[in-house]
Amino acid sequence: MRTGQKQFFLAFVRKEKVAEDTYFFYFDLAERGFVFLPGQYIDMVLPHKDPDNRGIERSFTIASSPLDKKYLMVTTKTIKSSFKKALANLKSSQPVEFNGPWGGFVLKEEETFPRVFLAGGIGITPFHSMISYANTKKLLIPISLIVSFSRIEDLVFYRELSDIAKENLNIKVIYTITHPDDQWSGETGRISEALIKKYVSDISEPRYYIVGPPNMVSAMGELVLEMGVPTEKIFIENFTGY
Ligand SMILES: Cc1cc2nc3c(=O)[nH]c(=O)nc-3n(C[C@H](O)[C@H](O)[C@H](O)COP(=O)(O)OP(=O)(O)OC[C@H]3O[C@@H](n4cnc5c(N)ncnc54)[C@H](O)[C@@H]3O)c2cc1C
Repeated sequence: MRTGQKQFFLAFVRKEKVAEDTYFFYFDLAERGFVFLPGQYIDMVLPHKDPDNRGIERSFTIASSPLDKKYLMVTTKTIKSSFKKALANLKSSQPVEFNGPWGGFVLKEEETFPRVFLAGGIGITPFHSMISYANTKKLLIPISLIVSFSRIEDLVFYRELSDIAKENLNIKVIYTITHPDDQWSGETGRISEALIKKYVSDISEPRYYIVGPPNMVSAMGELVLEMGVPTEKIFIENFTGY
């Protein structure tokens, strides 16, 4: 157990399939006054029969904004482990144990320097919370999100974040697809130096935030270092387990 651990229980409300193999899970925040910063995560505990060797607990970023007082929402994909099967089988109103919130990978609104958010797939979750928050509060923080997915069917938050970027001149949202089909007219391929430079005019100015599965995070970290970004301007969050 970590210092300052805060245990709480929320009722499961519903799940929603939002992409192939990807789901939103909503939990009822009603009257709880749960406070967290955009980008923080929680540990979820789901006791279940015959857990596999990864056990009954997982970390998930809170993908919803702290300004959403109704629901805490987590987004996840790949329902293979016994834990994820238990998650997928939650019944409406079932109480679920959480611990947290945790983590310093957050958007602090008083820090107005420009940020570049780089995400691989499901690593978009903390950036959804941060961008929703910054947009609702009309913060004057320049943000460029560059996120890569494999296929169109995998895209998450695409319409919502693209609409925010159309309305809010401080926020740029770029999705790139590594295996596009004919319907896709946006960026293609992996996140590269050329792609970052296309959307970030002065690459030395922003701080870089990188989230995703560990392989992607280390590749992105190396890429921005090779571009000359100093380590103190690079912040990473590894989604261990993928
Ligand atoms: C700070 C932090 C924040 C995180 N935030 C998120 C988040 O917002 N969303 C998110 O999805 N994840 C997040 N993660 C990762 C999350 O905690 C899990 O590790 C991850 O989702 C994988 O879950 P899982 O082990 O239940 O496996 P699954 O997702 O079910 O499977 C992942 C892979 O593991 C293998 N596998 C696992 N169990 C089995 C099994 N029983 N049989 C066969 N193959 C198996 C499969 O190859 C599968 O492709 C975060 C992690 C950290 C540390």
